[in-house]
Amino acid sequence: MKILVVEDSPTLRHATSTYIRKAGHEPIIATCGEEALQVVDGNPVDMIIMDVEMPGLDGFETTRLIREWLGDHWIPIIFVTAHSHEDSLLKGIEAGGDDYLIKPVSSVILTAKIGAMERIVTMRDQLHEANKELKRLSEKDGLTNLYNRRTFDTRARDYWKMATRTQEPVAILVLDVDHFKLYNDEYGHQAGDECLRLIATALRHCLNRPGDIVARYGGEEFIALLPNTPEKGAMHVAEHIRKTIEALHIKHRASKSSDRVTVSIGVSLSAFTTGTSLSNQIQLADKALYKSKRAGRNRVTLHNYAPNTSVLVVDDDATSLAVISKVLKGHCALVSTQNGEDCLRLAREIQPDVILLDVYLPGVNGYEICQLLKDDDITADIPVILIS
Ligand code: GH3
Ligand code: MG
Ligand code: MG
Ligand code: MG
Repeated sequence: MKILVVEDSPTLRHATSTYIRKAGHEPIIATCGEEALQVVDGNPVDMIIMDVEMPGLDGFETTRLIREWLGDHWIPIIFVTAHSHEDSLLKGIEAGGDDYLIKPVSSVILTAKIGAMERIVTMRDQLHEANKELKRLSEKDGLTNLYNRRTFDTRARDYWKMATRTQEPVAILVLDVDHFKLYNDEYGHQAGDECLRLIATALRHCLNRPGDIVARYGGEEFIALLPNTPEKGAMHVAEHIRKTIEALHIKHRASKSSDRVTVSIGVSLSAFTTGTSLSNQIQLADKALYKSKRAGRNRVTLHNYAPNTSVLVVDDDATSLAVISKVLKGHCALVSTQNGEDCLRLAREIQPDVILLDVYLPGVNGYEICQLLKDDDITADIPVILIS
């Protein structure tokens, strides 16, 4: 272990370091509290032996600052002091110390205390490892080692919130194994499990961009969120997955649609995530999946947004923007902004079918924006409805 010795007396520093070395550990020296803080900042130590009486920051204050700095990461801190009053001991424990030794400290006592603390450090490390493993287990699906549904929901929701701010395109893929009940009936449940594992491995290989979130969503259903992926990319990935699984050549005698295990996939996209919610988009991917099933399975279907009218809503008031979005959601492709200048840019970029424009906006107001839209050849013909 690396043991930091904080001690202003050169004699005691030397003695303590010698004991530490003899006990098989590596001493690191700080001659005052300030220096100890610098050491801890740049260098992970496993334990600290701290003098209480020092010029400048005393041992208690230094300990308080170190505990604050280390946060949840606990390391043992043993005080060494000339004071044997109970009050002083209490103060030391309250400051975050773990043990309290009275000077002069013998080699035997110090070595024994270091040994005892080392045992606790080992237990801390074991606990930390166990917690990490527990977290991993609770996030993953036991059969396939992909994320489970709960983890997908949490991570996808967090991602969605961010994508709503940045208005980046997000794709959702929903995937279901074809005639899997028949597979189980024909080959048994264990073979079915093994088949799901192979599919999961294939999915992991196909969805390996950082940020991709892929999970087992239910029995033989999988789901993936692809960040920053427009239609072409999403369809390419989905088709690649379908082909990869088909190419695994997992025999399926009982299937009504192929001689091997295949999957059907549904894809949905949000050009601008403000227009829809995550659960809505998952539903749309699900609908597309069932179109794939009805069309004969082993295929990819994109949810078709074509009949939708695109609407640009401009309102600086977040509440009314939310109300309008809620009403229009699902009926049209919705793009919104709270900012007048953004309205001009978006109107040129996406050329919506209609613009809903708040009259009172900070900076350039709705009337002026309307005038600018009408003066621009690209946006002149877009109907504008002023709202107030
Ligand atoms: P379709 O092509 O319409 O999707 O047909 P299907 O038979 O796959 O659809 P259905 O939803 O009726 O059946 C899904 C089956 O998946 C039911 C169940 O036997 C099987 N299944 C679900 N989870 C597991 C699992 O963890 N292990 C195994 N071996 N089978 C599972
Ligand atoms: Mg001192
Ligand atoms: Mg199913
Ligand atoms: Mg199925």
